[in-house]
Amino acid sequence: MPAQFVDVEVLSVHVPTAVRDELFRFAHAAAPREACGFVLGTGRAEQAEVVLATLARNLSDSAARFEAHPEDQLAAEREAERLGLHVLGSWHSHVHSAARPSAADLACTSYPLALILSLRDESLAAFAGPRELALPDRQRPLSR
Ligand SMILES: [Zn+2]
Repeated sequence: MPAQFVDVEVLSVHVPTAVRDELFRFAHAAAPREACGFVLGTGRAEQAEVVLATLARNLSDSAARFEAHPEDQLAAEREAERLGLHVLGSWHSHVHSAARPSAADLACTSYPLALILSLRDESLAAFAGPRELALPDRQRPLSR
């Protein structure tokens, strides 16, 4: 892993093509600002099955940051409950940089999963959230 990236675990979470296409549509529509939202599905971590993504309002004034509106986070939680799913994590777009989390991204991640898509090379990657958020069934140490 290149040194400029924070130490983070890459997850091989399957994202259905329809969801992936929708995320890129959201990202292109929001550019040059970052788009963000939440991913709903079943399972945990590597076994997670992404079912759908929601779009949230980005409250950040910066083009290189995101801050999902708390109301939209609550709406995603309610939608998940209504559909018998749970919020697996958040997603956001990078307009000019790679699909890798920045330190700021990780600092504001409040779920075990973070999806990042890059408009630079149309790539999508999944990362583990902060280790303290790792769920007990993750079967891995909580400290480094
Ligand atoms: Zn980011």
